[in-house]
Amino acid sequence: MKKIPLLDLKAQFATIREEVLAAVENVFESGAYILGPEVKALEKEVAEYIGVKHAIGVANGTDALVLTLDAMGVGPGDEVITTPFTFFASAETVSQVRGTPVFVDVDPETYNLDIEQLKAKITDKTKVIIPVHIFGQPANMDELRAIAEEKGIYILEDAAQAMGSQFQGQMIGSWGDAATYSFFPTKNLGGYGDGGMVVTNNDELAQKIRILRVHGSSPKYYHSMIGYNSRLDEIQATALRIKLRHLDQWNDARREKATIYNELLKDTPLVTPYEAPDRKHIYHLYIVQAEQRDELMKYLGEHGISTGVYYPVPLHLQEVYKDLGQGEGSMPVSEYLSKRTFALPLYPELSHEDMNYIVDTIKKFYK
Ligand SMILES: *Cc1c(COP(=O)(O)O)cnc(C)c1O
Repeated sequence: MKKIPLLDLKAQFATIREEVLAAVENVFESGAYILGPEVKALEKEVAEYIGVKHAIGVANGTDALVLTLDAMGVGPGDEVITTPFTFFASAETVSQVRGTPVFVDVDPETYNLDIEQLKAKITDKTKVIIPVHIFGQPANMDELRAIAEEKGIYILEDAAQAMGSQFQGQMIGSWGDAATYSFFPTKNLGGYGDGGMVVTNNDELAQKIRILRVHGSSPKYYHSMIGYNSRLDEIQATALRIKLRHLDQWNDARREKATIYNELLKDTPLVTPYEAPDRKHIYHLYIVQAEQRDELMKYLGEHGISTGVYYPVPLHLQEVYKDLGQGEGSMPVSEYLSKRTFALPLYPELSHEDMNYIVDTIKKFYK
């Protein structure tokens, strides 16, 4: 029987094996292992790629959010608006700095923050809005920016799933006051371990985050604030520099395969992803809606096809957020999507033959 994984990281490694191994060996020989020249070079290259002044390497994408929220001054009494249809870290990090997450339901087509509902949730206490470019689909950044500018609110883009996505031809990550990335291995630009990055055009935020990542010290052993130990290592940085050079080509391959899926799935009951006009979606995940989702996933599994649910429980219904008072029924779109959506295998190396097999198996299930 065929075996098709949701994501094939080994297939990708095979395409860059020699380059990565040589670079990693150089790092081992160099004697510099954390926040060294490779991290500096990666920061410069990511800043250029996104089109911003500063990029700051940190330990992971979650820390990237925490350090940025901290640098923005979020603390007790501050509200931060985000979506419940995302990975937990988008809200968890607000709680980690003692702010209050305020959830706003998502748009049923893009799965990103619903702008009209968001306007109604802004209060005097709103300090930051965190749009999440979910699955690689850019949020509506010009409308969000207009609202934030009018009200004097920061925008922090959670771009963990969207490195290379664009809105109106301009990179995601360059629209907000700051943006964060994750280099977790499964992300479109993933390392061989944990890693993350903050990007910003704001000099003051950049400087604060650089100090926060090394225990709030500048210079070393002189502490002006309570910080964190959140540093990017040289092995990740050197591998990520190699992968960054391939990223556009890999994202284009994902987009091409998404288009093929859309076409092949047309005469099935599945709802395929929507790409809003003026947006470049990079399909971190290829998410479909299905009736009898769980039965279909089980059937695909029995035919060697791996799938996954992102995410089974929207954040407002997580046990730890029960006391926020936004119970079942309060975010109907997110609740509906959490019961209907799942991811089909998608990665740059996925073959057309495998895609045909996946779609044929889906068609068989509905027969
Ligand atoms: C992966 C992810 C994060 C967290 O990144 P880590 O590197 O795993 O800490 C945050 N937000 C979103 C939307 C993510 O997908």
